[in-house]
Amino acid sequence: MELRDAVTCLRGIGPRKAEALAKLNIATLEDLVYFLPRDYEDRRNRLPIAELEEGVTAVVTARVKLVIGDRYRRGRKQMLRLLVADDSGELEIVFFNAGYMLKTFKKGEEYMFFGSVSANMGRLQMIHPEFEAASEAARGILPVYPLTKGVTQRQMRAWQETVKPLHAEAEDILSEERRNELRLCDLRYALDNVHFPLERQKLLEARYRLIFDELLILQTGLRYAGARDAEHAEGISFSTEADISEYTGGLPYELTEAQKRCISEIEADLESKRTMNRLVQGDVGSGKTAVAEAAMFKAVRSGYQAVLMAPTEILARQHFEGISRAFAAYGIRTGFLSGSMRAAEKRQTLEGIRNGIIQVVIGTHAVIQPEVEFSALGLVITDEQHRFGVRQRVKLKEKGKNPNVLVMTATPIPRTLSVVLYGDLDVSVIDQLPPGRQRTATRSVGADKREQCYDFVAAQLAEGRQAYVVTPLIEDSEAMEARSATEVAGELTKRFDGYRVALLHGAMKQEDKDRIMDEFYRGEIRVLVATVVIEVGINVPNVTVIVVENAERFGLAQLHQLRGRVGRGKHKSYCLLITYGGSELAQRRGEIMEASNDGFYIAEEDLRLRGPGEIFGTRQHGLPDMKIADLSRHMDILKKAGEEAAKILAADPGLSDVKNRALRSRVTRLFGDDMALDL
Ligand code: ADP
Ligand code: MG
Repeated sequence: MELRDAVTCLRGIGPRKAEALAKLNIATLEDLVYFLPRDYEDRRNRLPIAELEEGVTAVVTARVKLVIGDRYRRGRKQMLRLLVADDSGELEIVFFNAGYMLKTFKKGEEYMFFGSVSANMGRLQMIHPEFEAASEAARGILPVYPLTKGVTQRQMRAWQETVKPLHAEAEDILSEERRNELRLCDLRYALDNVHFPLERQKLLEARYRLIFDELLILQTGLRYAGARDAEHAEGISFSTEADISEYTGGLPYELTEAQKRCISEIEADLESKRTMNRLVQGDVGSGKTAVAEAAMFKAVRSGYQAVLMAPTEILARQHFEGISRAFAAYGIRTGFLSGSMRAAEKRQTLEGIRNGIIQVVIGTHAVIQPEVEFSALGLVITDEQHRFGVRQRVKLKEKGKNPNVLVMTATPIPRTLSVVLYGDLDVSVIDQLPPGRQRTATRSVGADKREQCYDFVAAQLAEGRQAYVVTPLIEDSEAMEARSATEVAGELTKRFDGYRVALLHGAMKQEDKDRIMDEFYRGEIRVLVATVVIEVGINVPNVTVIVVENAERFGLAQLHQLRGRVGRGKHKSYCLLITYGGSELAQRRGEIMEASNDGFYIAEEDLRLRGPGEIFGTRQHGLPDMKIADLSRHMDILKKAGEEAAKILAADPGLSDVKNRALRSRVTRLFGDDMALDL
């Protein structure tokens, strides 16, 4: 038996069990060893039978005196009754419909029973208690594992027991010296005690060690790229001669004070020798694109290239068109990259990026593909950063030698989490909307008002405006009663006779999406029925109304993003949220949306309604899943682990030292394909 053996080498695990275990991400014995309990049952509260009372939950250790199988329901069912006793008294144990258990209990043997005590005509009973042979049950705290269909708690415990000897083989990622200094127990002790704790204190030590490891692995992975960058010489400083105001002065509008402040913070970073690592946080519509353009302008005027990566093709294309138009007047050459480009076109663009003809590159994650090589990359920008995984952001940065980094988002991130995600990150906030913006009026209504909503849309169309209608699903499905985009598009095509209505969703061919978006930008298509593909970034100022069907299916932050698609021009705009049989939570969300247009307030309310778990949840920030660590609760451990990761990487930036072999393999394992670790 070895850690890397498949679980099927264990007795009792055949193909079917293996399949069930695969659902829990358990394929090898090593996976099993690192599959941790989600909770524990403390069975140390043992009571003598004489002290039991009706209603208490307790553990008793007692000898079986009598086993009785009674038939009931005309003999079709069998009840099993045991009379058990300890030195202090007797107790009845009852299992219904349990003929199959008749041979489980042996007279004279001792068992441990764990359950709640009830009374039957004055006699104390335990009905369907958990039980174990007393010898096995010697330890008091039992692990409770997360399970899936086809795997029972009892089986999981037994398998864990079987692989326990392997705990000694698991390679510790920390040397004894480091463990001593950090006051951590060794890995074997941690694994032994997390699965089969003998006492609370040992369990706590074990958990602490495993949480530390998980966070150390996370932090090492996140800092790995940064550590390698530090090997490159110092950061790139842009020319003080390159004058951003040459660009901003040419904009058709006056920048807001907040935009100006943000740009000057960026400019100071760019001119300094230190590499810029800055987050621009600004509510939807606050004008982040202009800030990004100013930074790119500075890069180009300093002789460097800049790249901007956007999460969707639609948004990337919109940025490309807007930015190309804006930069054309200054003779700045731009290029576009996406996965769906024709090969010939792509080859030409790649060539232009390589030889420096293209100065500003805009695209989707296609910009991080290996074949993209820059001649002098000085600035990388990620728009809507929360939509990218860690790996993608790191890869973008690795396209250059220590380039300046700017990330933009409308989603506020808790400070502590941003430290994990970006290390030392400076934050600029755009806390002001461009002047003349009118607040988007928001109404949250039930399905009974649906007709009126579309009458309202018709009135807006009659005034020359355009509309978005957002639905949660593409196709009709009976299982979900959500209104599908296809169904709604069909209905509205009939209803808005004389106006063009089009459907847009993620599964469509790229050419079709592009064509539809073009026609929508030009105002030929008047109503765009879409899934959330339009959620981020899209900017069509003539759209004044957005209808969200099945608003109860969207989170607050998402609704706020969607609403941000309107109110971008000079016309008064509206957001109509239609809720179908909404829960109390949906109603509360509707109220918050009606009451506030402030993204920061909404993010806070989101936090309150959903709890920190989801906000700190790793998925939405592109982090790998944590098994035992909880980013919202283990901040102090996180900090310590971060310091340790920094130390390790300072001494061994490539993680190539043999003593870091175990750490390196755990990092690769955690990040899997989602990390630019060419380890
Ligand atoms: P977001 O922060 O959501 O990315 P955008 O950069 O897309 O916002 O800007 C939204 C709209 O506001 C665009 O049409 C842009 O041209 C316009 N805009 C940006 N800054 C200003 C400003 N200072 N005054 C007027 N309009 C502005
Ligand atoms: Mg934007």
